[in-house]
Amino acid sequence: MYCNYCPGYCCYRLKGSVLHITAEDINRIARHLQIADGEVRKQYMENKYTFRVNEDGSCIFMAQDKMIKRCTIHEARPAQCLRFPYGNPCPYIEQEDLLEVIQPRVELALRNAWQNGATCPESKKS
Ligand code: SF4
Ligand code: SF4
Repeated sequence: MYCNYCPGYCCYRLKGSVLHITAEDINRIARHLQIADGEVRKQYMENKYTFRVNEDGSCIFMAQDKMIKRCTIHEARPAQCLRFPYGNPCPYIEQEDLLEVIQPRVELALRNAWQNGATCPESKKS
């Protein structure tokens, strides 16, 4: 599956798109983080319906110090994240115009992480 080797293009907010978070999602994430539902809302929600995003548009739950497997709540991720791309081929792999928007943001995150001392996970094995 491409997702295992992807920097999470679908985890960046695009103009006109929204990640819709349900009460069930919040409760699952709260249990995963071992905090109250209200604390999830307070710390991570932008409004009643969606998560906050970082300056580059990446989801508030995205790890900034690695380039694959970046969702820090993967086991408890929202239903919309779990279902995307809904049984279809991933649009980020298929559509160059989408990649053109996201790729510079991913590269900036990689550059920042590198400058802050991130190391390649593979290099830790030896
Ligand atoms: S659904 Fe597409 S963009 Fe999202 S992680 Fe998987 S391959 Fe990457
Ligand atoms: S919750 Fe995880 S999978 Fe969903 S957008 Fe955020 S980082 Fe991506």
